[in-house]
Amino acid sequence: MIVLDIVSVCDSRVSGFGESSGLQRRGLFRPKLDATQSAGRGPVLHSDCSCGKVKPRHPVLQTLLDHYRVPGAQLGRIQFPKLSDQPGFFRFGPSSICYGQCASGVSKKLRISELPDASASVRVQGTEVFLPFDPAQVIDNLRHEQYMTDLVPGAERIATREGIRKAYYFVRALLPVWIRRYLQRVYFRDWQTRPFPAWPVDYTVDILHEEFLRLSMCAAGIQRVPFIWFWPDGAPNCLIMTHDVETRAGRDLSSQLMNIDEAYGVRASFQVIPENRYEVPEEYVNEIRSRGFEFNIHDLNHDGNLYQKREEFLRRAKKINEYGDRYKARGFRAGAMYRKLDWYDVYEFSYDMSLASVAHLEPKRGGCCTVFPFFVGKILELPLTTSQDYSILHILGDSSIELWKEQLDLIRQKNGLMSFIVHPDYLKSRRARKMYEMLLNFLREMINIEKVWMALPGEVDRWWRDRSQMELFQNGGRWRIEGPGAKRARVAFATI
Ligand SMILES: [Zn+2]
Repeated sequence: MIVLDIVSVCDSRVSGFGESSGLQRRGLFRPKLDATQSAGRGPVLHSDCSCGKVKPRHPVLQTLLDHYRVPGAQLGRIQFPKLSDQPGFFRFGPSSICYGQCASGVSKKLRISELPDASASVRVQGTEVFLPFDPAQVIDNLRHEQYMTDLVPGAERIATREGIRKAYYFVRALLPVWIRRYLQRVYFRDWQTRPFPAWPVDYTVDILHEEFLRLSMCAAGIQRVPFIWFWPDGAPNCLIMTHDVETRAGRDLSSQLMNIDEAYGVRASFQVIPENRYEVPEEYVNEIRSRGFEFNIHDLNHDGNLYQKREEFLRRAKKINEYGDRYKARGFRAGAMYRKLDWYDVYEFSYDMSLASVAHLEPKRGGCCTVFPFFVGKILELPLTTSQDYSILHILGDSSIELWKEQLDLIRQKNGLMSFIVHPDYLKSRRARKMYEMLLNFLREMINIEKVWMALPGEVDRWWRDRSQMELFQNGGRWRIEGPGAKRARVAFATI
């Protein structure tokens, strides 16, 4: 039995785990888009034995198939023979922090410099990769924020956070704005010292996907594998603009906001609160739709209690579904980005937008650690990958677009989804409006130069669903894509 060193054997161009800095920001390979759909290599069922028999198609990590739409027969098998009893934190390489059961050791505390590194226990043997953890479990744990159980001690979570949250929502309406903002700044004061997820964008899940793909390519003995590019027409990134309408003032400023968006050629979705905060007249809904914008549901009454008790949630979710039906809305976002993914099966929406890549500046901390859409059961999650206008203006006290530009740079590196929340409610302020127009100006130029796909959230939902049905086939030495919407899809190659 020969244990191979995956770094030295398979990874000549990128230095892999030995590299001490910058790895997280660069990823391990840069997928090359082959827009001409030129010939790829034939399906390789690489075998380690000398008998010459071709091994049968093997089960491949489902998460890789889902994310890349890569032909499974091309990849080596990933195994995880043993797991630890308890989940905990560990590293995979110098900068990817993982959470789950791992046979090579976990830590209940997140002290980054002391975390055990699972990459030392990776073995490639023949056409199989052996990992000390289950890759799909780790990816699910990050996307579903399961790590929060150990990141925030239970007592603190219940006594402080919950206490503050309840008291805050109880008196919120009675408080002058300056006190509200003061309390929010106190609540968020630790945002810069939070070790995980990574600020200002976390894409650990996307780096792990790349790493697992690289390992299964190493195991199969291939340097290059075709996959279905993430966005239609070969666009390098996708961009969505969304507007949450928090108050009656916001509703009344929505027309103006549409004027501003239109001036920059931007189409956006409006998330509207159906109960308590303001009336939702039919003309308002019609205007949003007739001008080419999208209408979605934002919570039920935005009182911060949507996910507090299961029974009350079921009552509210039923009404939320009814409003979705009445307004023919396919998208949802909870108030204050609250979420409870275990309960999403109750919703009848097609997509949700209540998770952030990193949520240091959201009332509920955490983050799904990805800049790509992913399915939670039948619902597609379109994560928020940039900071909200409110957070930048009122928590960070900034009115420049520097943070947004920094976040876009990072998302660009991963070819991910660029998503924004900007509120009509704050447009009364000249400072907020100026900041938004600077952003639109910047986005317009970026879209024109880089051919970023600017879409409505509903269009992204349809695309990602279509893509999840597409498959790659080889025909006469060329790869082609079949499935709904395949005309706009492009063959790409991941290359080691
Ligand atoms: Zn809101």
